[in-house]
Amino acid sequence: MAYVIPAPSIASVPVKGAAAGDHFPVHRIYCVGRNYVEHAIEMGHTGREPPFFFLKPADAVLPAVEGKTATMRYPSLTQSLHHEVELVVAIGKGGKDIPAARAMEHVWGYAVGLDMTRRDLQNEAKKQGRPWCIGKGFEQSAPIGAIVPAGQAKVGPDTLIELKVNGTVRQTSRIGKLIWSIPEVIEHLSAAWELAPGDLIYTGTPEGVAAVVPGDLLSARIEGVGTLDVKLADR
Ligand code: MN
Repeated sequence: MAYVIPAPSIASVPVKGAAAGDHFPVHRIYCVGRNYVEHAIEMGHTGREPPFFFLKPADAVLPAVEGKTATMRYPSLTQSLHHEVELVVAIGKGGKDIPAARAMEHVWGYAVGLDMTRRDLQNEAKKQGRPWCIGKGFEQSAPIGAIVPAGQAKVGPDTLIELKVNGTVRQTSRIGKLIWSIPEVIEHLSAAWELAPGDLIYTGTPEGVAAVVPGDLLSARIEGVGTLDVKLADR
């Protein structure tokens, strides 16, 4: 068998720690919407709603190893590119209908990620009742730091998640403020889709989302997981 056109390469993310030098292959990117109360409120919503999900293409990852700054192109069609710092869960073992109590057996590792969003296009899609793809699923829309194997990461309720832009704190919260915890997210997600090794889950962003402009430096950090530095290229 031969492919009739050049086969696409497999998107991947570098791994940190003992497996340094190795890469984690990306199958799908799932994202959780409105998973911190204060962010739900700033987006015009209140209260606990069932978790909901959207996807980005696997090759939307923009990997950045620690200590090196990745460069992101400012995407087309938008005047309002927003940052959303998020804890990313990397799935190592697939499954369907995974109960929350067994969910952590499926987690291979963690990373710090950015769910970059063309907010103006997403808002227009919401208004029109259209899909979010154009606002969420564009190239380089998923910057991500090195993945830390679960056994080497320290993620708990008090874990700090933070984003600075040009040195100024824009978003800061604790992982314990997730409305739907990691096991609950995996339970809900695997009821709707069959999870596979290589899936990434962007678990949602805390409050403080705002626009960035060409030339800005985004520095994301999750205690016990790592850092991620992304520079927005000049247009
Ligand atoms: Mn998000």
